[in-house]
Amino acid sequence: MSQGHGTLNIISDVEQVQGKSYDYIVVGGGTSGYPLAATLSKRFTVLLVERGGSPFGDPLIIEKKNFFRPMSQIDEFTSIEQELVSEEGVANQRGRVLGGSTVINGGLYTRTNTEYIARSGWDENLVKEAYE
Ligand SMILES: Cc1cc2nc3c(=O)[nH]c(=O)nc-3n(C[C@H](O)[C@H](O)[C@H](O)COP(=O)(O)OP(=O)(O)OC[C@H]3O[C@@H](n4cnc5c(N)ncnc54)[C@H](O)[C@@H]3O)c2cc1C
Repeated sequence: MSQGHGTLNIISDVEQVQGKSYDYIVVGGGTSGYPLAATLSKRFTVLLVERGGSPFGDPLIIEKKNFFRPMSQIDEFTSIEQELVSEEGVANQRGRVLGGSTVINGGLYTRTNTEYIARSGWDENLVKEAYE
């Protein structure tokens, strides 16, 4: 992907950037790399190198009903999601796509039930207030 003065071009053919020079080259178009490149591109020419594909228009990524599907379609080299084991031995996944792990992550919001609150001896109103 190349950017210069606010414009964004997604390029999948390496030959199109071969021999060209840029003020900055950012490796990894993920959660941190993509906004970094976007910010730099306001004043400089930037080449953002991303090893994965583009998420735009991919139903596996943009349709909410498919949220868990990338997890079950993991391969070694090309899948949107990649399995890894950290240096401490913890199994995890990470994104292999423009947008990075943000493309595959998600947030959950839960509240406990009134039975649990009573059993814990908490004040139900305070708990409700704290949630809000
Ligand atoms: C399932 C899941 C749930 C999560 N839930 C939460 C949550 O609730 N709250 C929270 O704060 N965080 C959560 N995270 C973690 C969060 O998504 C990551 O910490 C964050 O996205 C990491 O950002 P990053 O920029 O460091 O890396 P990434 O966003 O992973 O970006 C790295 C990019 O670099 C690319 N890349 C890697 N190597 C190369 C290379 N050699 N050449 C070119 N490109 C390369 C990758 O393809 C990727 O696009 C979750 C993660 C996952 C997987």
